[in-house]
Amino acid sequence: MTIAETAAGVEQRRRLVTAIPGPASQALMDRKAAAVAGGVGTTLPVFAVRAGGGIVVDADGNHLIDLGSGIAVTTVGNSAPRVVAAVQAQVADFTHTCFMITPYESYVAVAEALNRLTPGDHAKRTALFNSGAEAVENAVKIARSFTGRPAVVVFDHAYHGRTNLTMAMTAKNMPYKNGFGPFAPEVYRAPLSYPFRDGGLDGAEAARRAIELISVQVGATNLAAMVIEPIQGEGGFVEPAPGFLSTLAAWCRESGVVFVADEVQTGFARTGDLFACEHEGVVPDLIATAKGIAGGLPLSAVTGRAEIMDAPHVGGLGGTYGGNPLACVAALAAIETIEADGLVERARQIEQRMKSRLEDLARSDPRIGDVRGRGAMLAVELVVPGTTQPDAVLTRAVAAAAHRAGVIVLTCGTDGNVLRFLPPLSISDELIDDALDVLAETFRTTTVTS
Ligand SMILES: *Cc1c(COP(=O)(O)O)cnc(C)c1O
Repeated sequence: MTIAETAAGVEQRRRLVTAIPGPASQALMDRKAAAVAGGVGTTLPVFAVRAGGGIVVDADGNHLIDLGSGIAVTTVGNSAPRVVAAVQAQVADFTHTCFMITPYESYVAVAEALNRLTPGDHAKRTALFNSGAEAVENAVKIARSFTGRPAVVVFDHAYHGRTNLTMAMTAKNMPYKNGFGPFAPEVYRAPLSYPFRDGGLDGAEAARRAIELISVQVGATNLAAMVIEPIQGEGGFVEPAPGFLSTLAAWCRESGVVFVADEVQTGFARTGDLFACEHEGVVPDLIATAKGIAGGLPLSAVTGRAEIMDAPHVGGLGGTYGGNPLACVAALAAIETIEADGLVERARQIEQRMKSRLEDLARSDPRIGDVRGRGAMLAVELVVPGTTQPDAVLTRAVAAAAHRAGVIVLTCGTDGNVLRFLPPLSISDELIDDALDVLAETFRTTTVTS
């Protein structure tokens, strides 16, 4: 794949022609403030007009380097050629019939692809939905239906979405939950493996600590599902120590608990494996996917063991738009792009290129306490030097300075002190190097004390 093919005519160079935001974006921000609900926030107040390769073009003509992919969604790139062609053809044929009324082949083909590609060679089934939260909710519904048990275990720092059940499953109060309760019952939280913060507890020990707490406070016989992100997303890109996931998965198997991997953020080549669970050879019973699945079109899925997936009664799963035909053909095109263009390998190359630079930066700047992540899902955790005390003020300042210099970076973490990098896999090496130069300069010139 050449950059020219991916970029839909978007010049692959960072270029600022106005301040960020420029006047056109500022005028649109004023309209947004007057028309859009105040609760819908904005990370970077520039309005996009075009995007492709590794660049987002804003309403003022600024070219920004995209290290966010719209939160890990445009993994195959924005306006990826196969996705564009597939959607254009489909939209002219038919846009919606509702798969539950008169089905169509593309939905079945996506299910077949996910059954083939997800970890494990057991018999599988898939159901399609619209959003990551909806996939997680349905994974819980399916696990409850299969086990006849009520409880769900999730982990510290977890993020699973913004619907009522998934708010309950999400750890962080602000901004996701505050004032929005009461929340769904029977959701219990267990401690995570967090190598930077748990004093070198190894993965198996951290898992035993979680299992002990679950056994005492919930009881395995009440537990339908354990839901976990193999690398946490919004919670801070926390990568559990080796052995954590596999020990938990083994305990779930022994205890009749459905082990659900929430790979909404980590899935589809993002981490340098097609799915992050593969890194340790963990085979989840159910896997929830979304974000990177369809090149930017809204689609999500639950895929898993046939006997679990087939537990709910006929008509028990579905939704008006779930597996919309435009989203399904986009997913097939995105999957073809990942396979044909070697994007799993590309994610590994991006890891090598970026991680060594980030590690260099950490060696020269004691405010960077940890560099972590895999593939094109990398992060730095910012702390008061010599401690693990989070520095959210610095994190916000560095992100804002990067934005002003034309690099889209996102923050995350329960304490808001993690800068995360999620470039599209269609980005060029030149843009990665330029973005890292900007970042190094940004760290050099940003001095704030929290
Ligand atoms: C984004 C995300 C979700 C929620 O997905 P939506 O499409 O925003 O509903 C769930 N789990 C994880 C791990 C996520 O990153």
